[in-house]
Amino acid sequence: MEVIIWVLILFILIYAIIPYVLAAKLGFWVCWKGKKDAEIALTFDDGPDPVYTPVLLDLLKRERIKATFFLVGERAARYPELVLRMSREGHCIGLHNYKHQCNWLISPWKNARTLEQSARIIENITGERPVFYRPPWGMMHLLDFFLHKQFRMVHWSKMFRDWKRKGGSKKVSNGLITRVESGDVILLHDCGVTPGADEDAPQYTIEGLRVAIPALKARGFRFVRMDEMFDKHFSIKTSHRRKEIEP
Ligand SMILES: [Zn+2]
Repeated sequence: MEVIIWVLILFILIYAIIPYVLAAKLGFWVCWKGKKDAEIALTFDDGPDPVYTPVLLDLLKRERIKATFFLVGERAARYPELVLRMSREGHCIGLHNYKHQCNWLISPWKNARTLEQSARIIENITGERPVFYRPPWGMMHLLDFFLHKQFRMVHWSKMFRDWKRKGGSKKVSNGLITRVESGDVILLHDCGVTPGADEDAPQYTIEGLRVAIPALKARGFRFVRMDEMFDKHFSIKTSHRRKEIEP
């Protein structure tokens, strides 16, 4: 019995815990921080959301900022007009699983299949195949690095717990203004329906951004997409992504 428990502990360590710590905490094998001075990337997970995503897109448009959205596949299929709007307004679109599920708890092969399904959903809407992939909660395991080689795994370097309404917009704006530095990949959310989140939390994220964006611009920061930040560090083949949208 004792042997079985030790084998199980060893398996969990090698399969999940060690790869997660190396990737999420030390940046091994993932895009998590850029190298260029004064560049930062805003990234939004869990959408699209019919209430908050349009408000956020309006703000980004007004501020002339391009961001990156990590979409849940089934939500992208439900709200294709929002996905198309993101693409037409120049944002980068990445993957965040078909359903918002932790990779540790689903079969890696099923995840590979549904990731491909999500990539096709987005490509059918926008004409561009997603390249970047951020697993829900950033929870990746050993096989993720072997089974999804067609995608670039993404983590983040700054987050402000914006999926909770506690602290309101001040938590987000203060965090952005006081903690962001060059190269940061900033995790934010434009949808609050995932387990553990508050449904109205994106309202405070957007309000926080309204205050923080002008302040960050005034300090000389330039907002870039994930592909702008990382194309130069990784040899991503971009030709297949540049398909024109049929009129
Ligand atoms: Zn998420």
